[in-house]
Amino acid sequence: MVFIYMSGTSCTGNSSDEFANAGTHLNPTGCPHPFHIGDLPPLIENNGFSYMSVLIDKFKISDIIGKAIIIHDMPDDFTSQPAGNSGKKIACGIIE
Ligand SMILES: [Zn+2]
Repeated sequence: MVFIYMSGTSCTGNSSDEFANAGTHLNPTGCPHPFHIGDLPPLIENNGFSYMSVLIDKFKISDIIGKAIIIHDMPDDFTSQPAGNSGKKIACGIIE
């Protein structure tokens, strides 16, 4: 299981965090994790493959165009701050 969030506008980083410049979870209202606007449901995988479709009304498409979306290698514990103790960032993309 992995955890996804939407964040900054870059998938660049450094040697210790290859997607560090994606920033933190999209959170314009200043609430705690897992209630950030950018927090999405867990992504379930099967033999390395996964697909997810989310129907959600907490943001508009225009709010997320150009934002980074990140996949972590561990599940969200829905408690730890600021990111649910979700492990290493393993993939990043920019929403177009
Ligand atoms: Zn969050």
